[in-house]
Amino acid sequence: MKFGILALQGDFALHQKALQRLGVETLLVRKPEHLFGLMGLIMPGGESTTFVKLLKEIALFDAIRDFARERAVFGTCAGLITLARKIVNHPLETLNLIDIVVQRNAYGRQIDSFVDAVRVNINHSGTFEGVFIRAPKIVEIGEGVRAVGFHGEDVVMAENDHVLVATFHPELTSDLRIHEYFIEKARKFK
Ligand code: GLN
Repeated sequence: MKFGILALQGDFALHQKALQRLGVETLLVRKPEHLFGLMGLIMPGGESTTFVKLLKEIALFDAIRDFARERAVFGTCAGLITLARKIVNHPLETLNLIDIVVQRNAYGRQIDSFVDAVRVNINHSGTFEGVFIRAPKIVEIGEGVRAVGFHGEDVVMAENDHVLVATFHPELTSDLRIHEYFIEKARKFK
């Protein structure tokens, strides 16, 4: 029962640590063949334009699309942007694995990074420390997508059957509940 973390760029090491703390075997994914046999994949924060460019160069773009039909994928921040259907303020082809429309760098310069409480509704509801770093906003949610995390009026975490996304960085806190939830979600496709 191994989980992969996309390790082309960005903060993949902290996601790997979170999974290891939950007793899960991990693999750093750098090529399409690394996806073989994985239960799930995490796409970390970083820079979405760089992600898309690299994913295409090494043929992971299509491989992740195929993988997500059978397995679970969790994207945080730039990972979320890469998984979205569309970016409103940037012409970049995305994976379109979850029907959300996003705005990149949506909080502006003044507060481009901040920490604030997020209300999450996974298994049971509660609050979670949300670390936002040049975060995107989810500006539209399509059919089949459930909102599962909120910051004020904004939806900051959402999911469909195979894909979970968060605009913030749960790997930067010691709270493992969201990673734990993702593992449970992925196990359903065993
Ligand atoms: N601003 C980055 C982007 O647009 C995302 C930032 C992050 O992943 N922390 O891709």
